[in-house]
Amino acid sequence: MFPLPPNATIGIVGGGQLGRMSALAAARLGYRCHILTPEADSPAGLVAAGVTLGEYEDPEALRAFAGRVDVITFEFENVSAEGLDLLASLKPVRPSPAVLRVSQDRIVEKSFVNAAGIATAPWLPVGSPEELETAVARLGLPAVLKTTRLGYDGKGQMMLRSPADLAPAYEELSPKPLILEGFVDFAAEISVIVARGADGSDAAFETVENRHRDHILDLTLAPAPVPPTVSDAAQAIARRLAASLEIVGLLAVEMFVDAAGEVRVNEIAPRPHNSGHWTIDACPASQFEQHVRAVAGLPLAAAGRHSDAVMKNLVGPEEAALWPQIVATPGLIPHLYGKSEARPGRKMGHVTRLFPRGALPGEFGMKAALAPLV
Ligand code: AMP
Repeated sequence: MFPLPPNATIGIVGGGQLGRMSALAAARLGYRCHILTPEADSPAGLVAAGVTLGEYEDPEALRAFAGRVDVITFEFENVSAEGLDLLASLKPVRPSPAVLRVSQDRIVEKSFVNAAGIATAPWLPVGSPEELETAVARLGLPAVLKTTRLGYDGKGQMMLRSPADLAPAYEELSPKPLILEGFVDFAAEISVIVARGADGSDAAFETVENRHRDHILDLTLAPAPVPPTVSDAAQAIARRLAASLEIVGLLAVEMFVDAAGEVRVNEIAPRPHNSGHWTIDACPASQFEQHVRAVAGLPLAAAGRHSDAVMKNLVGPEEAALWPQIVATPGLIPHLYGKSEARPGRKMGHVTRLFPRGALPGEFGMKAALAPLV
């Protein structure tokens, strides 16, 4: 079974751009991909050898999907526990359902991270309005109230600034239970993506800085312009978490750095991550290739980079509309995900710009380098 021979089929749960770019990397390594998605003409389905159209919770769809693949992985990880168990009873699943269960739930996730001796924002579980009052009394304001499940791109969370915010926020957020996190006054947000193979070997990409706009990733700077002590601490955290999880696949670890250089984990994702898209153009083997290698049981490639890079997401109709200028601008490396409708806040594609190692520009140079986008 492992390593998967050429022409074997990798099943990917989820039809979005992470699946699309994984499928493209898999094709280059001689594998086929088969996608499970409820969406016709999904970004991943459009570049895959096959698609099972169905809901992630539908046992018939899960069975049909598993019947057509040699190994199963994810770009969308919010499959129910029953769904995961069903898949795992039919085919090898990488990363394992146990890993997904940790990352699916913020309370389980933060408990796991803290148990590994790694700092997070201070947090408390919130199961009722009374518990929210108590949690705010202990953690103070401002604080961030979040759903424990199904949050992404700032959805499923609200900032609490004054006591009057508590009751409406508790009412608004669902599903329950919730989690309250102390507000981290961060100087920067950084992330590390580490690949871990079935043999326990690992390879971590450079620590990068992520800048968000309206809670959606806007820019990634690779490498992160932070002191080496911070960058090294982030690398160590990511590798420690990957080892503790015994993950086979990719682990993306998002972290806050405060003014004192202290690093805290915000969240982890056991899959390719938006903050790793720069690796397609700046590294001999991208995060997507590492994902495929790990899942297929191939040796991991080295995770070094040949260039520094800036990645900018193309979000919503306004930025998608700049496509003609983007493809006409020398030096901008364009990526489009094949989505037919550009809704506000939707990630439509991204562009990467490469720089010689050590020559990442400062703020002004960065804006100029991303024209006409910034
Ligand atoms: P998340 O969905 O947890 O990744 O949160 C999305 C974004 O909200 C993060 O990237 C931060 O910019 C911000 N954020 C989330 N949690 C906190 C926190 N505890 N303190 C400060 N900012 C936060």
